[in-house]
Amino acid sequence: MNVEIINVGTELLLGEIVNTNATYLQKMCKELGFDVFFQQTVGDNPDRVKQALDVAFARGADCVITTGGLGPTQDDLTKEIATDYLGLRLVYDKEQAATVMAKMLFLTKGQEVTSNNLKQAFFPEGAHILENAVGTANGCVMTSGDKMIINLPGPPKELRYLVDSQLKDYLKQFRQARIYTLDIFTLGIGESKVAHLLEDIINNQEGVSIALYASEISVRVRLGCKALNREEALEHLSKVKQEITEKLKDYVVDKLDLKKYIYDHIPAYTINLPEGCEIFAKPLGPVQGGDLVVTITKKAYPLGEELRLNINYQGEKFITKIRYLGTSSYSKEKIEHRILEAIAKIL
Ligand code: ATP
Ligand code: MG
Repeated sequence: MNVEIINVGTELLLGEIVNTNATYLQKMCKELGFDVFFQQTVGDNPDRVKQALDVAFARGADCVITTGGLGPTQDDLTKEIATDYLGLRLVYDKEQAATVMAKMLFLTKGQEVTSNNLKQAFFPEGAHILENAVGTANGCVMTSGDKMIINLPGPPKELRYLVDSQLKDYLKQFRQARIYTLDIFTLGIGESKVAHLLEDIINNQEGVSIALYASEISVRVRLGCKALNREEALEHLSKVKQEITEKLKDYVVDKLDLKKYIYDHIPAYTINLPEGCEIFAKPLGPVQGGDLVVTITKKAYPLGEELRLNINYQGEKFITKIRYLGTSSYSKEKIEHRILEAIAKIL
């Protein structure tokens, strides 16, 4: 199902409140496997709300979910506009009227209830009512032909209540395949090299999308596919995951644990310092000689790599950056040479 969300409320356009209702509904649609291609925000203005509905259905929405404008006041007109838009009639619901009045009496502590509250007892003919136990304005689902409009109240607490207690279950009947994703994490390899190694797989892929996301420490390969459930999705995704893991095997990690990766992959050297020899590493102060563990880490930058010596002496850490060394890989001899050079500088 193709869903468009329309958030009604002038405060939203004025930047006075954050549109949390939109994200809540977008997540719900994702969970149910509904497509959301557009979302609109419109002020409390009947013409523009109608225009927004027109735009949504014209560009392919099967269902429009509106939020806000269900209250008792003059400018709360979403339900009336939607009903009119679908060519339906508003019908007075006696039971709903009694419930609204009871709620209002409770809220106003027994004072007289104004008649405009009864506006909330009118619903489009044939509508499925979403009972609001945490506020006065009920939501509703109305349909006409192949068009569906769902009205939800603006206050986030009420909206979330209706979504979680009734709307999700109601919409399950329109459920369809949703997108499932699976991430493969790599460390120690750049995005362009990943792209190069996976070129064939990416070009010949059908049904599974492959996207690369590079961050400062890792490149994530995200696989995605549409399926009705997780098992079906895993069937498609795990085949591609296996192919990719074979291509990137030296770089694939179970999870992004950079520390573990460094311990597993970066060589450590133990060098015996002559007795009494001093290392002076400001500002940590002088330390006496003994076993010295040197760990090398590489950090990739766009124009090369930085080699870092992490010198660990009796639980204290000293870090020396060596310099940019270009993109060449290092032989053990080269690294050892650099370490000795660096240590000689420290000593
Ligand atoms: P009421 O009966 O309270 O008038 P309503 O359904 O008419 O409910 P609105 O008047 O549009 O809803 O909004 C009521 C309040 O809910 C707003 O003042 C705002 O604080 C909050 N609200 C409305 N829309 C949103 C939104 N999209 N995201 C977050 N909060 C919202
Ligand atoms: Mg209102």
